[in-house]
Amino acid sequence: CVHLLADPVFREGAVSGAVLVLLDVTEREQGERMRREFTANVSHELKTPLTAISGMAEIIKDGLVDPKDVAGFAGDIYKESQRLISLVEDIIHLSRLDEGGVGLETAPVDLLELCRRVMERLEPAAKRAGVSVSVEGMPATIHGIPAVLEEMVYNLCDNAIKYNRPGGSVALNLSLGEKEIELSVADTGIGIPAEDQERVFERFYRVDKSHSKEIGGTGLGLSIVKHGAALHNAAIRLESVPGHGTTVRLIFPI
Ligand code: ADP
Repeated sequence: CVHLLADPVFREGAVSGAVLVLLDVTEREQGERMRREFTANVSHELKTPLTAISGMAEIIKDGLVDPKDVAGFAGDIYKESQRLISLVEDIIHLSRLDEGGVGLETAPVDLLELCRRVMERLEPAAKRAGVSVSVEGMPATIHGIPAVLEEMVYNLCDNAIKYNRPGGSVALNLSLGEKEIELSVADTGIGIPAEDQERVFERFYRVDKSHSKEIGGTGLGLSIVKHGAALHNAAIRLESVPGHGTTVRLIFPI
């Protein structure tokens, strides 16, 4: 997209030439369009659970719910409010990453220890899902933003468990090359169709909206991974075979 700015040049009252400025505003316009879409999506995603919470609270308040059903309604209100909290947290993290990680401290990060910590946090979820998890590899340290790196690995492992099946597995592996450190998360889950593989990194993009909603999630996890990787100059590779599983690799330069 090009904006044309033409200005006549006057000399002694007469037009003696013209200055033509061509501005490539593609990136600027794309940025603005993405921001508009993001705001619309955020409003929609916030409004859905809020409307549900408000509706349920209203009928309880008006005494329209049988006392024996009140606990069930309270459970639903709790679930919806938890969804809202995760969403707001993810939006805050994303906006911090959008600003280039301003205010986030960097430090040496032991990636193997970080991987073990993430899997420990996810152990209960893996148990509930009937998925076995493993962490393997050699110690590797990079200079990075600890909180962002942990969230990236957490989001990848969380997905690998969520989009898996009972009896499936998740393998987190760290390998050290001459010029790079590779952190991979491989699952034996449902996989991602080829046409969706690039789009899953977009904000709020989900392969199967209804299935994802049932599983839980904000649709922001992989965009946080993408922004976090960019901040660490890391590349992301995704390989996935529907019905067989997905492997996501983060490749950090040394
Ligand atoms: P969500 O909060 O919905 O999990 P993400 O941004 O983390 O959002 O992922 C976007 C979508 O990509 C998910 O809704 C899911 O459809 C798909 N996806 C992500 N990771 C995996 C995976 N390991 N296996 C299968 N599908 C996945």
